[in-house]
Amino acid sequence: MARTFCAQQKDFFTLKTFQDLGLPQPLVASLDAAGFSTPTKIQIEAIPQLLKGRDMLGIAQTGSGKTAAFGLPILAAIMALPGRPRPMSARALILAPTRELAVQIDEAMRSFAGSAKRISTVLVLGGVSRHAQIQKIAKGVDVMVATPGRLQDLVDDGKVWLNETRFLVLDEADRMLDMGFIGPVKAIAKGIGPRRQTMLFSATMAPNIAQLAKDLLNDPLRVEAAPQGS
Ligand code: ADP
Ligand code: MG
Repeated sequence: MARTFCAQQKDFFTLKTFQDLGLPQPLVASLDAAGFSTPTKIQIEAIPQLLKGRDMLGIAQTGSGKTAAFGLPILAAIMALPGRPRPMSARALILAPTRELAVQIDEAMRSFAGSAKRISTVLVLGGVSRHAQIQKIAKGVDVMVATPGRLQDLVDDGKVWLNETRFLVLDEADRMLDMGFIGPVKAIAKGIGPRRQTMLFSATMAPNIAQLAKDLLNDPLRVEAAPQGS
């Protein structure tokens, strides 16, 4: 009992920085520039474990700081890789249910990446021309943020190869399933194959999410988080 109490007190009073979480200096510098001085709870719990390569199941509400929790470890890993991504491939794939969310994630990833090392990104969305997306992908990208339907179309047409992808994020997975994306999500994950680190986030743990997590995650770290400041 006393030990638990002490552990909680220590957590509460130890102010962690992004550097303490094991992130490389260039990322810490761009976080500083973006005004991120103190990591949120989910960032503190997730980042060190994700840097070690663990899979993760996050039950977290909007506003808890999930984008940086999954995005920073991915960028750290990519920055440590030699060379450039292979043509037609993406080193990391982040799936989001809507165009708006995908746009926000892409913006956040580019702001975290800063100018320290050139990280290439592409947004793959339905409802806009495929041409520019296909041209960017043809060169190979570090980070692809996509909605499942359009990405599945491009995969089916042979415009993207997922076999080089090493990081897969399913953001707001509950909404993706509600929108009927279970088929594309599963097909995309299967196309990537087992050599990947997978992170799944959902606001709820409905049975269909639990099943998806069981299918896609390997011994995941489970993290729960309320919105920032609550
Ligand atoms: P979620 O995906 O959990 O809804 P976001 O990643 O979109 O949350 O973050 C919510 C808001 O909080 C965003 O405006 C983001 O820029 C901001 N934010 C996230 N982490 C931090 C942090 N450590 N310090 C300051 N602002 C943060
Ligand atoms: Mg989010």
